[in-house]
Amino acid sequence: MKEKKNLGRREFLKNSIVGAFGGGVYLSSLNSSPLIKTFSEKNKSEAQKEVEVEYRKLGKIDFKASLLGFGAMITSDPAVLAKALDMGINYVDTSRGYQRGKNEIMVGKVIKSRRKEVFLTTKTTLKGTNEILSDAEESLRALDTDYIDSYLIKSLGVRANIFDERGLNALEKLKKDGKVRYVGTSVHSNEAEVVNAMVDSGFYDLVTVRYNFRSDEKLEKALERAHDAGIAVVAMKPMGGRGGKGFDVGYKNKELNHFQAALKWVMNKKFMCSTIPSITSFKQLDENFNTMGMDLTWSDRKILYEFARATDKLYCRACDVCSGVCPDNVNISEIMRYLMYAEGYGELELGRDSYNSLSFSERASNCINCDKCVVTCPNKLNVHERMVRAHSMLA
Ligand code: SF4
Ligand code: SF4
Repeated sequence: MKEKKNLGRREFLKNSIVGAFGGGVYLSSLNSSPLIKTFSEKNKSEAQKEVEVEYRKLGKIDFKASLLGFGAMITSDPAVLAKALDMGINYVDTSRGYQRGKNEIMVGKVIKSRRKEVFLTTKTTLKGTNEILSDAEESLRALDTDYIDSYLIKSLGVRANIFDERGLNALEKLKKDGKVRYVGTSVHSNEAEVVNAMVDSGFYDLVTVRYNFRSDEKLEKALERAHDAGIAVVAMKPMGGRGGKGFDVGYKNKELNHFQAALKWVMNKKFMCSTIPSITSFKQLDENFNTMGMDLTWSDRKILYEFARATDKLYCRACDVCSGVCPDNVNISEIMRYLMYAEGYGELELGRDSYNSLSFSERASNCINCDKCVVTCPNKLNVHERMVRAHSMLA
C-alpha cells in the first residue's frame, strides 16, 4: 500500500487540517511520535513486506510494546495469536473472566515458549483483598507462568475506587511477592475522572482505557497528563464499534475501511503506547497490522465523520449520567456495553454471557412493559428502545 510511507510525517503535519467536525466526533490534535521500528525480514509474508512494526515505550515501564497489541478477549483460534507474535506483536491482553477462564489458558499455551518476548496483561475486578489475591493465583495457573507483567483491576468507574485499600493492598502484595511486575486499571466509563485519579495517586503504572475517535477532549487531556506522569496508556475499543448490524455503514473504499481509519486515529496520538483491538481472525490481524505506520489523512477524517454520523445514536459513551435514574434499577450503561458487544462488534455470545451475568433485578426485563421511560440520555440514545432490544437479543 503506497499510502503507508509515501507521505512523510513532517509533510503530513504541514498539510493536515486540525479541527472538530462536530456531531460528537472529536478529531483534533494529531501528532507524530518517535518510533522505534524493527521487524525481521524473515518473518514477513509478501503482503506485509512494506509494514514495519512500531514500538513505543510503555511509560516508565522498561519495555517497548508494539503499537498494535493483541486484544485476546474473544479470540478462540490460538494460531491467530501465534501468528501475531511471529509478526512482532508483543503486547497481549486477556482477563480472568474472558471466555469463562478459557481465554487465559489459550493465551498461556501460545506464549509459553516465548514468555520473555511478551508483555502480558490480565485483570480482575475490585473485591476483597484476599479474593483479588486468589484471582491472581488462578490467573498464574491458567496462564502457566510465574509472573504477570501487568495486573489490572478493571471497571473502576469512579475516583474513590482508585484509592480503595482492598485493591491497593492486594496489588502491593502481588508486586512485593514478585508475582506481578506492574499494576494498573482498565477503564470503561467516566474515563477522565478515573485517569486523573490514577495520576493523583502516584501508585499505578499502566491504564487500558476505552479510547477512540468518539472520545472527548477532557479524556485526551487526562491521558496526556497520565503519559507525562509516566503511566503507560493503552487503548481498548479503539475502533469505536466494529461489524454487527447497525454498525455496518457500507464504506466502499477498496484500500482502506473505516476500522483502519479509526485505528490510525488512535495510533497517531503520541501519548498512546499501544492499542488492543480484539483480534479473532487472520484477516483482522492483517488489516490491523497493515495500519501501523500509516498517516492519518483528510480522507480518513471524512470516513470517521460519516461513520460517527451513521452510528452516533447507537454508541453509548458510558458517561454514567443514566446511572441510578431508572426506578426499576435497570443497569443501563452495563447493558449498553453488552449490546455494543453484540451489535457493534458482532459478538453475540459475549453479549449474552455478559448480560446473563447480571442479577435479574439489573436486567432490562421491566423495560418491555414500561410505558414511559424516565431516563434521558444526553447523548441522544433512545434508552427504552435500546433496553428492549438488548433484552430481546441477549436474554
Ligand atoms: S446510555 Fe446515555 S446516559 Fe447512559 S451511559 Fe450511555 S451515553 Fe451515558
Ligand atoms: S424503560 Fe422503564 S424500566 Fe426501562 S430503563 Fe426506562 S424507566 Fe427503567
